[in-house]
Amino acid sequence: MTTVTPDQIVNPDRLADSILDGGEITEAEALPLLSTPDEDLFSLVHAGSRLRRRYFGMSIKLNYLVNLKSGMCPESCTYCSQSLGSKAEILKYSWLSTEEAMDQASMGIGGGASRVCLVASGRGPSRRDVNRVGEIVERLKDENPEVEVCACLGILKEGQAESLKEAGADAYNHNINTAESFHDNIVKTHTYEDRTNTVELAKTAGLSPCSGLIVGLGESDEQIIEALFALKALDSDSIPINFLVPFDGTPLEGQWNLTPMQCMKIVATARFVCPDREIRLAGGREIHLKSLQPMALQLANSIFLGDYLTAEGQAAADDLAMIRDNGFTILGQDEETAGGCCSDTKSTTEAADHTDPVIRRRGAGTAATANV
Ligand code: SF4
Repeated sequence: MTTVTPDQIVNPDRLADSILDGGEITEAEALPLLSTPDEDLFSLVHAGSRLRRRYFGMSIKLNYLVNLKSGMCPESCTYCSQSLGSKAEILKYSWLSTEEAMDQASMGIGGGASRVCLVASGRGPSRRDVNRVGEIVERLKDENPEVEVCACLGILKEGQAESLKEAGADAYNHNINTAESFHDNIVKTHTYEDRTNTVELAKTAGLSPCSGLIVGLGESDEQIIEALFALKALDSDSIPINFLVPFDGTPLEGQWNLTPMQCMKIVATARFVCPDREIRLAGGREIHLKSLQPMALQLANSIFLGDYLTAEGQAAADDLAMIRDNGFTILGQDEETAGGCCSDTKSTTEAADHTDPVIRRRGAGTAATANV
């Protein structure tokens, strides 16, 4: 836990003013944000939400994951249920066929996703794997030209990013996951540099770089700041923030290092460090942010819809309700587009779904147990 002295605490609204005037936050200014007293969280969120609205209005981008190949990965990432060393009882299967991948992707697109993320476990793809994924990308783009396609296949070799780009891919995801100074604590079979090299290869090929974090691995606040500034330096267009899902049977089983308030402070700090980048709430959001998920949308402008790679997410219908109940619009579905903070949006009071009241038949005046 970082000790913050009163003179280090920066008024988040003043910080937001300076960023909105074209300034940039320093690491020294960002670190105390992670130690914001719980009672001041709302001020931090309010200030961060001004940045969010400047660049993304009230829009939420929905992303949909298709796990093309699950489990059986030879790498040693301690947080990952798909590693060969993991005893987590996840689904394990080899490559989906193009038809199966298209079916899965269509469901996400039908649910409102404007980006499909094609993911495969493994250290990195072979030439055959790139061809196989390229075929899926081509079909997806032919049939859904308006949908972005992101590939996430691990460490790339020279020429592979170009092949994916030629097939029509828009983006490539490879998370740095954590700070360089902490990386070797969580994986030994590849280096931090392997990860950043892949992001650079994707950028050179003209793919939009998507790279983010997993928090809750046991890293320090200083290392979260180190990682956020590394992502800024990498120029990552989209930044997924994963919250560790400590599956039983993985080396990090039982590591619950985060509170909902701490998760909010991390998301807010990411928004201050990378104000104009897509900040995406990713795996573990439901179990870590808990009832603060809607508040986190004031900072993040993107989420995954539906399930994750090996864990189930909350019901897609609940995500859509959460978005609309809180006055946000879905990118590509509703009228508002990114950056349109002042455009007309559908009134949230219009056509609201309602839940019929349930008459109480328990507690006082009854013999049934009260709702406590
Ligand atoms: S390389 Fe990817 S799939 Fe393999 S263990 Fe690491 S995170 Fe999991």
